[in-house]
Amino acid sequence: MNCYCGSLKSYNNCCEIAHKNLAEVETAEQLMRSRYSAFVLADGDYLMQSHHSSTRPIKEKKEIVKWSKSVRWLKLEVLETFKGTQNDTEGTVTFNAYFYENGKVEIIHEKSAFVKQNNHWTYLGLSK
Ligand SMILES: [Zn+2]
Repeated sequence: MNCYCGSLKSYNNCCEIAHKNLAEVETAEQLMRSRYSAFVLADGDYLMQSHHSSTRPIKEKKEIVKWSKSVRWLKLEVLETFKGTQNDTEGTVTFNAYFYENGKVEIIHEKSAFVKQNNHWTYLGLSK
């Protein structure tokens, strides 16, 4: 089976590497993909861990997990990346995340900002 993030790799050769050890994530796009997969798996701990500490929604963790379990995740499309390579400390990823909720397909379209914190990539929030 291909990874939840829609890459052509298997989960254990893709997002599972990130889910086991965040420090293994090399690019902002990989982090973004691993966070999508974490939504599919309702892995609240990983979603918190991979979130920048300054914007981490700790109190909402339960609701995020509950919500991510309540919808059916359909697919991820990565549209554009800017910086975010191994040699960068910041970058953006623009994506569409599709899910099925209350009888219809919903799309999250977002340009996300990622920065390195403690030598690993983290999700900062919406890019300006
Ligand atoms: Zn993946």
